[in-house]
Amino acid sequence: MKNLINEILELKKERNAIILAHNYQRPEIQDIADFVGDSLGLSREAIDTKAEVIVFCGVDFMAETASILNPDKTVLIPDKSAICPMAMMLKVEDIKVAKEKYPNAETVLYINSTAETKTEADCICTSANAPETINAMNSDTILFGPDKNLAYFVEKRTKKRIIPVPEDGVCPTHHQLSKDDFLNSLKKYPNAELVVHPEVIPEVQEMATHIASTEGMLEYCKKSNSKEFIIGTENGIIHRLKREIPGKKFYAASEIAICPAMKMITLEKVRDSLKELKYEVRVPEEISMKAKEAIDCMLSHHSKNDPL
Ligand code: SF4
Repeated sequence: MKNLINEILELKKERNAIILAHNYQRPEIQDIADFVGDSLGLSREAIDTKAEVIVFCGVDFMAETASILNPDKTVLIPDKSAICPMAMMLKVEDIKVAKEKYPNAETVLYINSTAETKTEADCICTSANAPETINAMNSDTILFGPDKNLAYFVEKRTKKRIIPVPEDGVCPTHHQLSKDDFLNSLKKYPNAELVVHPEVIPEVQEMATHIASTEGMLEYCKKSNSKEFIIGTENGIIHRLKREIPGKKFYAASEIAICPAMKMITLEKVRDSLKELKYEVRVPEEISMKAKEAIDCMLSHHSKNDPL
């Protein structure tokens, strides 16, 4: 493994590349990355980088966003099959139909959506800034997709009427976490706080001590007086929590909270990606230009130093 890591570091230098990794990536990928974060942090980092090549260790919509924000850079994803199933649940046609039904509504899409659907959005949000972004919209009715659980979270924290599009879009990894998973964990760790992601089902959101994006979880667990936490999101975040907050204990609410798409990327694939400059992610210009307007809308609401 040491040789492989050295090979990656050398290739990275040769290519003038940066490695960005999502919090749900395998531990060894997080450890070699130049930056590890959530979708919002990774988008900001993709804008700021001086590197010529961005190796994106995440899923397709994240690499697409990096490419839209950096049309002059080479954006690579080490495995083309790292495709987010939730993003695929929303089709352009669904948004068009909803717009006809609610002509006065504005459309806000979760960043976990395809570049093509983003062209139909007035603004994009991440789980770190969804309520703030939606509160800043003019219309009282917002078409929101693709995650109906995040839609529930947002509706409770804004004065807007939220229409989920499609009606039943979910992240399979988060949606499977049940109330019983948390009750059972609490029996084992009665002093732990429940910290969950807003992609979990409403019943679990209601029982949580804190709901946040992965980056928000990190901030919360650092500041909290508690020493133990039951974490309700993809289990890749546990590595980062343990690494950055060594004095505290973190337990996964369920061992099955694993996103298969996020785990597609391995060290070997990162090496091959740098070596052969594969697989390049390019968004057609007509899609990219329109999608960028909606992404810029999101970024305009938040500066790099805003709390998550
Ligand atoms: S964790 Fe869920 S939303 Fe994130 S990439 Fe996997 S399936 Fe998509």
